[in-house]
This record gives sequence, C-alpha cells and structure tokens, in this order.
Amino acid sequence: MNDLIRLSDVHLPAVPIVLPPHEGQNLEASALILTHGAKSAEQVIVDFRNRYSPESQRWFRRYYLKAHRNRDRTSLRYAWNLDIPSTDRTVGIFKGDDLAAAQILIGNNMAGAWMSSISWHLCEDRDGDEPVAIGRFDPWSLLQDITPADIVRLRDARGLVPNIEGWDFDNFYMHRKCPSCGQKISINMFAFNIDSAQCNKCGVRPFLSCALGRLLHLALPAVTGQGEQILSADQALLNTVEWLGDVNAGTDHLHQEELPEHITPHLMLEGLLKNSRLLAAAPEGRFALAPTVMNHLADNQDSASMVIGAANLLAKTIQEGGPFTDTHAATARLLQLVERDALKALKELN
Ligand SMILES: [Zn+2]
Repeated sequence: MNDLIRLSDVHLPAVPIVLPPHEGQNLEASALILTHGAKSAEQVIVDFRNRYSPESQRWFRRYYLKAHRNRDRTSLRYAWNLDIPSTDRTVGIFKGDDLAAAQILIGNNMAGAWMSSISWHLCEDRDGDEPVAIGRFDPWSLLQDITPADIVRLRDARGLVPNIEGWDFDNFYMHRKCPSCGQKISINMFAFNIDSAQCNKCGVRPFLSCALGRLLHLALPAVTGQGEQILSADQALLNTVEWLGDVNAGTDHLHQEELPEHITPHLMLEGLLKNSRLLAAAPEGRFALAPTVMNHLADNQDSASMVIGAANLLAKTIQEGGPFTDTHAATARLLQLVERDALKALKELN
C-alpha cells in the first residue's frame, strides 16, 4: 500500500533488481534530444505514473489468494468476473503465504500487455473488501516491498523471475534492430525524439533511417530517371534537411534499405540538389534561386540576398553530407515558404 506514498516522490522507487536504463538501451547518450517539456527520462516516467496512479484508475484486475486444503500451498487466482466465480482462473501456485511471489506472478501474468489505465488489486480472499496491496502495472509497483533476498529465494526455489522485458506495460519503449550492425536498440519514446536515437556501436540512427528512407523513396525517380515521381525533388530535399537538422544528423547516420544499393543517402541528396527547381547551380559555382522566386523577391533586395546566401550555405552543407543543424532546418523551412509565396503570387497575377 505504500506505493501511493512513493508516487508523490520525484524519483522512481528503488527496486531489488537491475532494470534497463530509463532512457533506453544501446544509445549514444550525447545524441539524445528530450521531447518538449521533458526534463529527464526518469522524470517523464515519474510524471506518467502520477498521472495514471492506481487510485485514479477506473479499471482494475482483482487477484486473490486461495489457500490449499493442507495450507501448505496457495493459489494466486484472478477474478475475471466478480459476479461469476466459476470464471476465475489460477495464475500460479506457491508455497505458503508469499506476497512477493504473488506480485511477480501478477506481473508475469500480463507481460507484454498495455496496462496504463488498469491497476492491480491483490486481496486476501475473493470477496475481501480491502486489498492487501494495490498498484500500477509497472516494475516499481509490482516489486514494491520485495527484497533482494526474496528475488534470490524465488528464483532458486521456484524458478520464478520477473519477466522484465515484458513489463513495459505503459509502452514507454520503442524497439528496433540497428539496420547496420544488428544491435538491439530501444528508446523511451515519451521522453525523447526517437529520431535522435543513435546506435552506440556504429553511429547509425535506426528510426530516422527508416522514416527518411520511405520519404526519399517517393522522390527516387528524380535521381534514377525511372518510375513515377510522387514527391518533387525540392520537397524531398528540403523535408529531409529539416528532419536531419532537427536532430543534428548527417547523411552518414543513415542506413538505407529503402533505396537501391548503389544510391547511398548522400548520393540521393546530391541527386535531389542537382534536380532541384528551386536551387539551380549557377555557372560560377554558386547556387541561384528559381526565376519565379527571384522575381517575387525583386522588390526587396535585402531579402533576396539573405535568402540566396542561406540557400548557398545549405547547398554546400548538402554536398558535404552535413551534419545539419537547427539553422539548416530553419533555412529549409524558409525556402519552402518563400517558394510557396512566390507560386501563390504568380497564380494571383495570372
Ligand atoms: Zn549499429
């Protein structure tokens, strides 16, 4: 019952086993970017637990203890329907009156399920009014009041161990195998921008690679000259730069399975730049903006030179493969807006 007191704490309660890091696994720590408003992965979990505290849950699963006739053993039972006892199910059997065993069995019973809005109640008997323990479906609640000695005893005597991999009942973690080196990666997606997840072994960004690969695939004909162009070269290029810039990534962080083998992400971006209608390479090695955009900016020379300057810096970084920053992302957004404005003005004129 003291779980309710612990929930008001700013830290997660201590548990008698080693949990995976709150951030996720096999991540490059320096690349991680917290989502807006998040202070740390731990704080995000603490806040989430407070928001979905057991006493605020409308739904609960009632588990109860049933002593065997010789009193030596106890069954942990789950009351599926409180009005129909015949539908109760046995979840596990253990020696004596062992609450530690019961709580671990409750967790393992629901391993892999999404349980954020459902709490667990453990009662001494089926119709008992007051539960002997209640909590959330998460490791901190389920392992409350369990000692390291309990964990060892239950493992050695009964082979009962918390199935921690399956205890992510709030779906905090997103998992993926690194497409480059095969290492398993997970990230706390409530706390971090998942595109900032970077494999700490090979440097590839598994989630970003997959998402950008799908986007780039739509613009592939601009580079290969084959197939149906779904996304324009400019849209694909500027969206990609924006995406990379928001998480400080470069093309060497991408591992492409969505693109043909001979087209690396870097070649793809260079190809898109060459086929851009917005940014055309001028003879003197600089980039010029499309005539439509230049005409639109003709009345304001200051804006025009600022936009051209920014576009050239961006083109250079694209040729270098990054890394892209917030500033590049902002330039990409600006160019898209300027082009949109220019096309709109042209339409109104005609
Ligand atoms: Zn890797």
